[in-house]
Amino acid sequence: MKISVIGNGYVGLATAVGLAGNGHQVVCIDNDPAKVDLINRGRSPIYEKGLEDCVSSCVGNGTLKASKDYKDVADTDITFICVGTYSPSCNGTDFTQIKSAARGVGGVLSKKKGYHVIAVKSTVAPGTTEKVIIPTLEKASGKKAGKGFGVVVNPEFLEEGKSVDCVRNPYRIIIGEYDKRSGEAVESLYRDFPVPIVRTTIAAAEMIKYASNAFLAAKISFINEIGNICKKLGIDVYDVAGAMGYDPRIGRRFLNAGAGFGGSCLPKDIEELVDTAGRAGYEAGILRAILDMNREQPQRLAEMAESAVGDLQGKTVAVLGLSFKPGTDDVRDAPSLKVIASLLEKGASVRAYDPVAVDNARMVLPKSVKFCASAAQAVKGADCVIVVTEWDEFKVESLYNGKVVIDGRRVLDPRRAGKFCDYHGICW
Ligand code: NAD
Repeated sequence: MKISVIGNGYVGLATAVGLAGNGHQVVCIDNDPAKVDLINRGRSPIYEKGLEDCVSSCVGNGTLKASKDYKDVADTDITFICVGTYSPSCNGTDFTQIKSAARGVGGVLSKKKGYHVIAVKSTVAPGTTEKVIIPTLEKASGKKAGKGFGVVVNPEFLEEGKSVDCVRNPYRIIIGEYDKRSGEAVESLYRDFPVPIVRTTIAAAEMIKYASNAFLAAKISFINEIGNICKKLGIDVYDVAGAMGYDPRIGRRFLNAGAGFGGSCLPKDIEELVDTAGRAGYEAGILRAILDMNREQPQRLAEMAESAVGDLQGKTVAVLGLSFKPGTDDVRDAPSLKVIASLLEKGASVRAYDPVAVDNARMVLPKSVKFCASAAQAVKGADCVIVVTEWDEFKVESLYNGKVVIDGRRVLDPRRAGKFCDYHGICW
């Protein structure tokens, strides 16, 4: 099939290489000319493990190309909308990119003769596709959904840091369909995947994505709360989580107590779900508590540093890890940003290091933060070291010899760490 993918970020580019790798002809459309140029040269504009190799081989064998021009949509059968819905200045979802993408695709459909399906992969709150995206497509195309074109919501569940692998091996595929014809067209793309394919309504598909993200976030905030209690009682929360996880009703994943969740999805999606519930007349207390817990958790690292070394005014603190998780350069809503803001407010000088996220972090952090070329350089001479992201290279004990270490991610074994450093774990 011929496919167009609008928006070539973490979701769009991983989706595009996944589809191209399955033998489809894919054109990636992005309004950022620098990204388009990089992709056409076989390079990835973002860091995700394995992504650049896939881009390079798909561009090389002619199954993938990038374009700035929405006109290229006309020559395809299905368009995936994968533009961003995150904005740092917006608490919940930002619809600017989605509306502009729908206008762009609709404009092309106004001149296209054959049938075309639009698959919304961007995460949008229940009701958005029917109330915002379809009317925008209809207005721009002069056609009616179900007659001139088909629509599905096909939410993406990938984990950043493993996006290529997740797109190739999803746990399930959700297709919220406007009508049977649209659903069938998109299901045909996924037929060879040995996983459940759920065909449902558009609004249910939107809700499945939100509910899934809220559940994962709830697991994290829950275990962080248990961890905070365990620390006060002298119990190791990792022993507790490990034993809880043997129960298949609970599961071990997302029970790593630590500095909390970040990224462009979980915080934004839960905020949006709280607002959606509020507009429908329901106060979502559990969802609010997940967010409150997550706002406070990273602050604990700065407070622990203060307790360990005294007043932070004039002290130097090394922050290891800036991306919101390992394996990606994404710093959107990363706990590191909150930790650093808190350290600066307390008068500390911050020296930061991350293996891949420094360029992105530089764009959002204050000029006073000094970026280092290696973890060793950041740690050298620092009064205190705070680990915020669990990159493998931070798991080396010799890095921390003689240092005060605040571990937000359990990179060190707390049973050994006391032998070579002054060790403090966030929840253990
Ligand atoms: P992103 O910000 O990394 O990428 C968005 C891309 O769209 C950018 O390359 C941008 O230049 C491009 N763009 C913006 N407006 C455009 C327009 N009008 N026309 C063409 N291109 C345009 O976003 P992302 O992280 O890939 O997320 C995309 C969507 O998928 C969001 O709704 C997000 O919530 C959802 N999602 C993200 C993840 C994730 O882990 N990042 C996982 C699942 C779902």
